[in-house]
Amino acid sequence: MTVGTQTKTKMELRLSGSRIAPGLGSGPAWIVGDGLKGGSPGRSIEALEVEKELARIRPAVDATIADLDESARRLEEQFGPPLAGIFRAHSAILSGLRDSGEFESELRASLDDAETSVGRVFHRWHKKFEALRDETFQQRAADIRDLGRRVVGRLRGEVGSRVREAPPGSVLVVEQLLPSDVVALSKLDVAAVIVGALGQGAHASLLAREKGIPTVAAIPDLFDHIHTGDDLLVDGNRGEVIVSPGPETRKLFQDRLETSRASMVRCQGVCHDPARTLDRVFVQVEGNVGTNHDVELAFENGADGIGLLRTEQLYLARDLPPTEDELFAELRAATAPMHGKPITIRLLDVGGDKPLSFLRLTAASNPALGRRGVRLLLEYPELLRTQLNAVLRLSREQEIRVLVPMVTLEEDISAIRDVFESSLAALGISERPPFGAMIETPAAALGVAAIAKHVDFLSVGTNDLAQYTLAAARDDPAVNRYYLDDHPAIFRLLSIIAADAGRTPVSMCGELAGREEVIPQLLAIGFRSLSVAPTLIPRVKALIRGLRLDA
Ligand code: PEP
Ligand code: MG
Repeated sequence: MTVGTQTKTKMELRLSGSRIAPGLGSGPAWIVGDGLKGGSPGRSIEALEVEKELARIRPAVDATIADLDESARRLEEQFGPPLAGIFRAHSAILSGLRDSGEFESELRASLDDAETSVGRVFHRWHKKFEALRDETFQQRAADIRDLGRRVVGRLRGEVGSRVREAPPGSVLVVEQLLPSDVVALSKLDVAAVIVGALGQGAHASLLAREKGIPTVAAIPDLFDHIHTGDDLLVDGNRGEVIVSPGPETRKLFQDRLETSRASMVRCQGVCHDPARTLDRVFVQVEGNVGTNHDVELAFENGADGIGLLRTEQLYLARDLPPTEDELFAELRAATAPMHGKPITIRLLDVGGDKPLSFLRLTAASNPALGRRGVRLLLEYPELLRTQLNAVLRLSREQEIRVLVPMVTLEEDISAIRDVFESSLAALGISERPPFGAMIETPAAALGVAAIAKHVDFLSVGTNDLAQYTLAAARDDPAVNRYYLDDHPAIFRLLSIIAADAGRTPVSMCGELAGREEVIPQLLAIGFRSLSVAPTLIPRVKALIRGLRLDA
């Protein structure tokens, strides 16, 4: 961190962190702290306000209990009793706390407002459970935290999280960023994001890149330097943040912003044409997307199709799983902006760093190596069937491909293939959409020949392939140094995949596909289909047009 020029009012401050998503953005800081962090002084109240504050607590708690009971009811319908049981347990914990009178005594003793008193009670219980080493108690601590957030949120009149309330044009400053937060951000148009800690390969990072939101992470003592309303310049290309910039710095930043916009406009002029190398080899350039907004962006940037539609976003932002009809309607709306171009819909890939609120899996010692992707789909047949039916119904109207995530064993893909065939038969669909497998574990890469027997196409997910090959968690900033998706070991695996796939088409949808410096190597290995973040499409196409493969 370096301190720079002085302005009349505030010192200009340069902070350096790590680059998560490229781009430049500026605006006032919008800080979202942890609503439950204990010890923070709350709003004090007068003795005569006590009854009024107490009267606010009960309805907020009761409404939260009603939400939990409704969640349990709907989960029971779709998944059976075990999952519903978690919400019933939450409801019981909360009822117990309400009836114990602890909220009331805390408020009377502290003379702090309802939000602060209730938050403090939850914080205390959270700390108690957290201090116990046993895994069950640790899980209970997380439950308490979750419950506390819900109740305090209700008291504050919040419908969603404060992340979602970031005013348009502001710079969001958060301690932690979850994939579900970034999902919400697409609608808000924040200028940039600054995060306390975030891994390069974490899903929240990919989503930020996909949405083209400049993001910087790992700034030491972030909240000591940035306060709500501070004027910020965020440089996602250099991993730098400037607080309270002086006029000269601001002018330089503005110039860079305009230059980058101008070059984007130049690139976009031809982005709708196909990308052919100088020796006329066609390379398909598609987009990785999550929401309607990304799909529009992909189309505007000249995507030849959608190489990866991550469906997690349709699940992450909600408390309950969508029904088949809801899913069908949402997928239809999400894919409409592609105007008939092919769309690859990936079946749900949750678990790992993308937990679902309603799928409260028991804590795994290492979630990335546990139940995720296809493993969970096989465990929850109804979840699988609902998706397949919705996707297949959509294939009657649009050119759809179906993609299965996190395949490791040949049995994984053959089992899903069986359900796929039976869903086709049940729906009476004779024109079957292409069915594909993601290759994102070393075992799948080395076993491509066996997996290829069951599919029409393959798609390489280098984000996970890197995490599993280099033994470095994609969402752990502490091992970013090892998380190298361009390591020679990855290229070795890519060559094996390309060779062993035989006649089965192979595309790539991991982040590596959008890295300009490696694209020549990818084409040399034999890749002819790349799926990248929508904002990268024009540049990737432009780069391909300047390459010669027979050189
Ligand atoms: C990948 O692993 O490379 C991939 C594209 O899937 P995700 O990033 O969604 O895990
Ligand atoms: Mg993956």
